[in-house]
Amino acid sequence: MKGCFFIGFYCIIIFMKYHIVVFGCQMNLSDAERIASVLESIKYKKTSNINEADLIVVTMCSVRQSAVDRVYGLDEKFRKLKDSNKQLITILTGCILKRDRKKMSEIFEYVLDIKNIKKLPQILKNQTNHISGDRLKYDTNYLDITPKYASKFSANVPIMTGCNNFCSYCVVPYTRDREISRPAEEIISEIKNLIKNGCKEIWLLGQNVNSYRDSKTNFPKLLKMINDIPGNFWIRFTSSHPKDFNDEVINVMAECKKVTPYLNLPVQSGDDKILRAMNRHYTVKDYKNKIKKLRKNIPDISLSTDIIVGFSGETKKQFENTAKLFREIKFDMAYINKYSPRAGTAAAKLKDNVSWDEKKRREKVLTEILKQTALEKNKKLVGKELLVLINENRGDDYFGKDEHYKTIKVK
Ligand code: SAM
Ligand code: SF4
Repeated sequence: MKGCFFIGFYCIIIFMKYHIVVFGCQMNLSDAERIASVLESIKYKKTSNINEADLIVVTMCSVRQSAVDRVYGLDEKFRKLKDSNKQLITILTGCILKRDRKKMSEIFEYVLDIKNIKKLPQILKNQTNHISGDRLKYDTNYLDITPKYASKFSANVPIMTGCNNFCSYCVVPYTRDREISRPAEEIISEIKNLIKNGCKEIWLLGQNVNSYRDSKTNFPKLLKMINDIPGNFWIRFTSSHPKDFNDEVINVMAECKKVTPYLNLPVQSGDDKILRAMNRHYTVKDYKNKIKKLRKNIPDISLSTDIIVGFSGETKKQFENTAKLFREIKFDMAYINKYSPRAGTAAAKLKDNVSWDEKKRREKVLTEILKQTALEKNKKLVGKELLVLINENRGDDYFGKDEHYKTIKVK
């Protein structure tokens, strides 16, 4: 509580207001929902206007340097806000690299490990003592916090956190530590509750959902258990890793009617030598075989992928192999990333020898292929009636996603 004053017989209570700035992926969005829940449990009220907040929490992404720079860019804005509100507290959490912590603590009052968000009330209560988030013992169970869901109809449900894969370019194993799977029972109970309250879309989240494991439950079994929950809803999941995406998952996807015909399977490169340098543990042939099996079992599956262009040492010929794979697979969607060297990762020791302009050129080549293949596939939908989950409205237009995760505009 910020304060309370009396007008006649009435006592006016003024609550502290919080604002959360989310950078990065669905996992950060989901974390923000848990942070909101913790703050509201101590009577903080949400504001969508950053200028009137008493507490600003930023969930950070460190996957690319550009994302880190965006957080550094908040420094000036925070200085101005603190000039007008001396009580303002700023907290940084999310995916933070160790080497950025010191500099970030010059901008933020607290730099807090995401696994410590249950400690927020304690930190805010003792703020004059400036407890360092780092010195608090980790509570790895932060996923059991009941979130304050941002949407009534679509919910992000993390099934695990962390990653054990150490792809040579990636910071996640350093910022989120090793894999921890949530108990299946806890996940099922959260989802049952969501469905009971009218939720229509469940996103299962994890850095590598295919390696989910809780005693006797693996990922396909978990999918089946969720599919068996009564109700009319869609099940989606992200991210999958081609090395762990196996026949059992394909069969369950084909069998379970609530699992939507959409898959994001990040290939990262279409060249075996680059895949080895990236420490991905599969070949282009393995990837293509998995897609073939998937399409055999779920013929109308829509596919997206993640790509890194201009990885250290990627020659024009090696990039052409990625372009060739793009033409062959005909993805519906792709997240194309220009390689950004990350300190502390194995690839940071290699020379970042593809120029920024060349990375941009490669990105453009893939985008052009994608435009053609996606258009080709979208044309097949002309005249069809689709079930759409609306999530946005702009003027007279409504937007949403269909089962295949295609953006649909409803007039
Ligand atoms: N776990 C997923 C997987 O195995 O592909 C992806 C998670 S990662 C946080 C999201 C995407 O960011 C990756 O698929 C990759 O394309 C991209 N990415 C990760 N590190 C990157 C880097 N150093 N530079 C550019 N893109 C990067
Ligand atoms: Fe990063 Fe690889 Fe883990 Fe994905 S699987 S989060 S790319 S280390």
